[in-house]
Amino acid sequence: MTTVPVVACPDCDGMTFTLEPCRCTTYGDRFLADADALGPRREAYRNCEQCRGAGSVAYPCRRCGRRGRRRAQLVVTVANLDTGAVASHQVVPGGLDPLRDPAGHWVVDLASRVRELAATVGAVVADADAPSLWLDRQWRPDLPAALRHELEAHAILRADHAPWRLVLGRSSAAPAVDPAARLARLCALADLLLLDLVVEARQQGAGFGWALRYEVPGSPVPSGSPGWYRDLPEVLTHTDVSTALTGLAERGLAAPARLLCPDSPRPPVAPRADVDQLERRVLADCVDATHGDELPGAQALWRDGRWWHTTLRPGEPVEILAEQPTGQVVRRVRVPLSRGYEPPDPSWLGEPVDWRPCPDCRPHNRLRTCDCRLGDRPAEPDCPDCCGAGLRPSALHCFTCGGTHRLHQTLLVTVTDLRHRVMHLTWQAGTPEVAPLVATQPNGSPTATGSAPGRPSSARGLRTSATPTAGSTSTGTCATGT
Ligand SMILES: [Zn+2]
Ligand SMILES: [Zn+2]
Ligand SMILES: [Zn+2]
Ligand SMILES: [Zn+2]
Repeated sequence: MTTVPVVACPDCDGMTFTLEPCRCTTYGDRFLADADALGPRREAYRNCEQCRGAGSVAYPCRRCGRRGRRRAQLVVTVANLDTGAVASHQVVPGGLDPLRDPAGHWVVDLASRVRELAATVGAVVADADAPSLWLDRQWRPDLPAALRHELEAHAILRADHAPWRLVLGRSSAAPAVDPAARLARLCALADLLLLDLVVEARQQGAGFGWALRYEVPGSPVPSGSPGWYRDLPEVLTHTDVSTALTGLAERGLAAPARLLCPDSPRPPVAPRADVDQLERRVLADCVDATHGDELPGAQALWRDGRWWHTTLRPGEPVEILAEQPTGQVVRRVRVPLSRGYEPPDPSWLGEPVDWRPCPDCRPHNRLRTCDCRLGDRPAEPDCPDCCGAGLRPSALHCFTCGGTHRLHQTLLVTVTDLRHRVMHLTWQAGTPEVAPLVATQPNGSPTATGSAPGRPSSARGLRTSATPTAGSTSTGTCATGT
């Protein structure tokens, strides 16, 4: 059995804490700081609530978890997801077998260990997610063992932010993704779920950042940075159905809630899409047609069985003031984007849904109902959080309305197998529903869609839930228009 050496943490020299520059030094000695115009200031804020103007603060050492000591050990594991076979390799000083690279540095190639482990469990792994360990310059194979092991321990500790590397593989390599087939499938699913599929390119440096996502019709252009991918085939290769659905609820918070028209004609079956043509059209829309100016970006929306194209244009700059833990206030200016052309409503979108204001939060500030009022109790006069006011500031979304500040009368629930079958249910607040039987559990008790867990029983607490699960049957619920 190998003994694992435990050594003094090199990041804090075994002191359990580190002395680092305080956050206030980012902005210098000023109360109101501009986030977008940072100078080379490194001075402390005189009234800083964290360092009292000293400029540095003692932080607990994260690398050793305030223990002052660390284990010089990494474990690499490869698992075959099809057979369940698992193989592991322990990386400890004394068993590294470093090799010399052409530049003369001694290096331990963990990726080759991953490939060896994968071969023993019969797995094909995509990217061997294991870094190389670079040994210190002084390391030589002929050094005394104690000194060699100490230098090897340091190399291991530099990579121990992830001490257990688990690499998942399958018995055979996954077939390559055909971007055109992926696009056709995403379009067909948008028609099935009654959502928009948004293809977006935004200026990023000298090129474009591409993103692909589902949206509830009427969602604004999300703020934040452009997508990660350099072109449309690349974003299609890396975006599957569950990735495209991720964040649907957050993106749709400001979209108007609408019912679905049950009788509207279903969109036609999605044709095989031409990826190249779509990419060229979106890129062409990134240039202003009349003046030839470059625009921030462009979108193509798949809605109602066809593509709609629009430019993205800068809106009025918005100033955001954010309070810092140092006591400073940081000012940021963001330029929101909006669509140059808003495509017409899809044919299946119906009446607006009634709503009333959420009683548990105040719009435009961070005040929420205090926990002492849970269950509709009156506020406790000596509550430590709200001092009897019944409201307290919170950095989280309101739990009652999810941040929309609206409580809707109606909830739409989409149940789908993410392939061909879909059911859109409309639940009215305060109306008893007939619960269709969808399955029988092993113990004989019925499972009905109307008795889904977490189903709200009154208008209060109605909220959308979007947790679609790719490949599962009847478990994906996604809110459309609510
Ligand atoms: Zn400070
Ligand atoms: Zn430490
Ligand atoms: Zn309270
Ligand atoms: Zn609320």
